[in-house]
Amino acid sequence: MNEGIIFDVKRYAINDGPGIRTTVFFKGCPLNCWWCHNPEGINSKIEKFNKKDTVGYNLNVKDIINEILKDHIFYNESGGGVTFSGGEPLLQINFLHSILIECKKNNLNTAIDTCGYSTIDNIDKIYDKVDLFLFDLKFINEKEHLKYTGKSNKIIIKNLIYLSNKGKKVQIRIPLIPNITDTSENLLSIKQFIDKLRYIDEICLLPYNKYAEVKIAKFKLNSKIKKLSTQTDKKLNQIKKIFDSKKYKVKVGG
Ligand code: SF4
Repeated sequence: MNEGIIFDVKRYAINDGPGIRTTVFFKGCPLNCWWCHNPEGINSKIEKFNKKDTVGYNLNVKDIINEILKDHIFYNESGGGVTFSGGEPLLQINFLHSILIECKKNNLNTAIDTCGYSTIDNIDKIYDKVDLFLFDLKFINEKEHLKYTGKSNKIIIKNLIYLSNKGKKVQIRIPLIPNITDTSENLLSIKQFIDKLRYIDEICLLPYNKYAEVKIAKFKLNSKIKKLSTQTDKKLNQIKKIFDSKKYKVKVGG
C-alpha cells in the first residue's frame, strides 16, 4: 500500500525513543482512552473540527521518506531515527509495512509506538523491520481497561508476552493518569506482570501532561476527564521505586 492517512509529522522529537527522531502520527486508533493526548487522531478518517480545522491528510511512502530523510544527519549523531505513532500505526499495517521497507533501505533506526491492540500476524509482518517497540500498558485488570479505553486488554497482554518472548527490544510505557492508572493497586499489578515477562529493555513512566485537556478544548470535544494535575516529583519518585528492578531500566519520562 503506497498511501495512508497521517495527521502530523513532528521533527526533532526527543521523547519518542532514543536520540533525536522524527515522529509520524498515523490516523486511527482502536482504543478510545479517556485521557488521549491526541484525541483528534482516534478516528481513522480525515475529519473537520469546528467547520475549519481539517485533521488528517493522505501521504504517500515516497513523501514520508523524503520528510524523514531531511534530518538524517541528526539521527546519525544522536543515535535517533524515526518513530511511527498515532493513533495506532498498526491499524494501517500495509502502509506501515511499505514505509518500513524504505526506512531499512535507508538504514534508518525504526521504532513503533503501539497500544498493542493488533494481531500477531500484523506484528510478524513488520517485526524484522522494527528496532524498538514502544508498548503502552495501562491496566492489567480487564474491567478497568474496558472502562477507560473502550476495549478489553486480553489481546494487548497476549501481544506483549509474544514480543517479550521473541527477545525484541521492548520499552513499556505507562501513562500515569491521576487516580486512574497511577494508583498503587494498578501499578503493583503492572509491576507483577512485567516481572514475569522474559525480556523487557526499559520501563518509561509517563507523568500526566495537559495536552489532552488543551486538545479537548481546541477541538471542542466531549471529555470524561476533569481537570487533572501532573504528579509531583515526590509522587513520581515513589512510583519509580515500585518499579525498581535489576532486570530492566526504569525512567520517568519518554
Ligand atoms: S491508545 Fe493512545 S492514541 Fe489510542 S486512544 Fe489511547 S491514548 Fe489515544
